[in-house]
Amino acid sequence: QLDPLPTLTPEFLNVLNKVCEQCYTDFAPDELEVGVREHILQDLETFVKRQFAGARLQLFGSSKNGFGFRQSDLDICMVLDGQDTIDDVDCITIIESLARLLKKHPGLKNILPITTAKVPIVKFYHVRTGLEGDISLYNTLALHNTHLLASYAAIDRRVKILCYVMKVFAKMCDIGDASRGSLSSYAYTLMVLFFLQQRNPPVIPVLQEIYDGTKKPEVLVDGWNVYFFHDLKTLPSRWPQYGKNTETVGELWLGLLRFYTEDFDFREHVVCIRQHGRLTTFNKQWTSKYIVIEDPFDLNHNLGAGLSRKMTNFIMKAFINGRTVFGTPVKAFPPYFFDPEV
Ligand code: ATP
Ligand code: MG
Repeated sequence: QLDPLPTLTPEFLNVLNKVCEQCYTDFAPDELEVGVREHILQDLETFVKRQFAGARLQLFGSSKNGFGFRQSDLDICMVLDGQDTIDDVDCITIIESLARLLKKHPGLKNILPITTAKVPIVKFYHVRTGLEGDISLYNTLALHNTHLLASYAAIDRRVKILCYVMKVFAKMCDIGDASRGSLSSYAYTLMVLFFLQQRNPPVIPVLQEIYDGTKKPEVLVDGWNVYFFHDLKTLPSRWPQYGKNTETVGELWLGLLRFYTEDFDFREHVVCIRQHGRLTTFNKQWTSKYIVIEDPFDLNHNLGAGLSRKMTNFIMKAFINGRTVFGTPVKAFPPYFFDPEV
């Protein structure tokens, strides 16, 4: 039921590649903006310490993983010195009192504690920069997956560009907002990484499968193994396929749209970036869902679990349309096909 795609000329592939590169240069924040985020973090930490003397604040998510937009939210994790974990009851109490405290901060507005979510947070709006943000507590796995994503981003610039293109595509198609029933940016990033691992030859390795000796090291956090190989300087000698894939970003982008519409069988398989071997929905007992994306560390967590059937269809249609749009030669895409204002 998919339209056949015409053979692509080198000229069109060149156009496609330019659109992807452009998307990255238009949306990536510069160093100044990265500094602004660290500055807000410092200011908030100082302020929070008035009431929580041992508080430490840390940025994670796209402020740190290499796929941030100028207007991306500030994802902040708070921990207390000398305390390793927190139970659910204390977590909600602290979130509520943190919200009361932040209401007194002159630079913030719209303070809103959300204590019913799986991960309780306080949301805020930073007036001077117009940035939104949220603070969660002991979101330790998120710090580790942020580091994992950042490591993949550092291996090859095409990873970064494709993740940007994917996020812009998801926002444009209105399929990229988990709070409104679709998938989070994080989920789409995992889909890009999985595709790049499955490509032949692969663009990136499976970092969780590279280790010395015969047994994978165990680094336990919240009961899950967060080990992955992060000595990237030595990756070329540790991964035989390093540098073998020479496709352009444009080819890879269309390749991704084709992969998820033509090759990948969502009914059978799991999007899983922690191992190279196929993982089936049957293995995971996740057969009642169509889009199944396994978190790389919390193996009980399916990022597609919250999707309704209707939303699943809507997302799949966006990919099918994307395949047609990007797979059909035009002389040029409109100047702002990817509109930075969207
Ligand atoms: P954006 O630029 O859109 O803010 P992001 O990479 O920051 O992109 P978010 O959706 O804001 O993505 O998520 C921030 C971080 O929170 C992710 O990097 C991940 O660590 C964690 N996270 C988000 N959604 C989930 C989820 N459904 N399950 C587990 N962790 C999640
Ligand atoms: Mg974010």
